[in-house]
Amino acid sequence: MLQLFIPLGALGIIYRQFKYTLADMDLVFKLLSRTPEIEDKDSATDLNVEQGQIRFDQVHFGYQDDREILKGISFEVPAGQTVAVVGHSGAGKSTLARLLFRFYDVNQGQVLIDGNDVREVKQNSLRRGIGIVPQDTVLFNDTIRYNIQYGKLDATDQEVREAASMAQIEDFIESLPEGWDTKVGERGLKLSGGEKQRVAIARAILKRPAILVFDEATSSLDSTTEQAIQRTLKEISATTTTLVVAHRLSTIVDADQILVMSQGTIIERGSHSELMQANGEYRRMWDLQLESD
Ligand code: ADP
Ligand code: MG
Repeated sequence: MLQLFIPLGALGIIYRQFKYTLADMDLVFKLLSRTPEIEDKDSATDLNVEQGQIRFDQVHFGYQDDREILKGISFEVPAGQTVAVVGHSGAGKSTLARLLFRFYDVNQGQVLIDGNDVREVKQNSLRRGIGIVPQDTVLFNDTIRYNIQYGKLDATDQEVREAASMAQIEDFIESLPEGWDTKVGERGLKLSGGEKQRVAIARAILKRPAILVFDEATSSLDSTTEQAIQRTLKEISATTTTLVVAHRLSTIVDADQILVMSQGTIIERGSHSELMQANGEYRRMWDLQLESD
């Protein structure tokens, strides 16, 4: 999750300093003071994500006061279901994920998990309950093993291997001369975009949270690997509440609901077949993508 928002240069420095205290997200954010300070309320309680229901209720948000990015967003992801979000770049899709983690506070409306406003719970507990595969993964300059194990620091080697296998990266790791002990290099630069994405997917799988967020998580993978991972993700998301920002529309045809975003609003919603029948923007995007694939 920190991968999403931390300027690349800063991460290495922060990480070197705090490696052994477990680069705690909140600490990292405070040090970088990237966002207006988001503090736990004195009355904040631990959120124990149980059902994993997500609800956005009339959410308005802007990064700056003079530019509203989300203009009254309402939707629900019922516990265990999968909701996909599609729309052009800049529509506000990644912003939804950031608000779910409360990296920013909404200007109006509410973001709720199991009925709890995210502003009322401890941020640590909130982020513990959610796994994310971000759009741009930045890894720790440590071993591949550590980078996956970060999802669950007390995981056994067996669990780590299983997660890597499910993310289609185990064979690659074992083909490396130093195997699991290979250092990924400053910011993960020794790995390709697709390899980094698979490490991030393995980390999220290992964490087994009640809520999973995938933000264009397979955009850098070749289509064979993507299809293999999609099968795994489908199995996992069958029992997990999943919010997925989709890159290729073909990966979300089975979602319980698809939201089509444009310029900070939801302009269409429904299942794949409903949206195809509606013959609107989703249909248009689908036809365009078929042409370009
Ligand atoms: P998407 O994921 O749909 O491509 P984003 O949610 O990342 O879109 O961004 C929505 C809008 O918010 C874009 O216009 C983007 O430029 C703007 N934006 C994103 N992050 C920031 C930020 N940290 N500060 C200011 N504007 C931002
Ligand atoms: Mg995005």
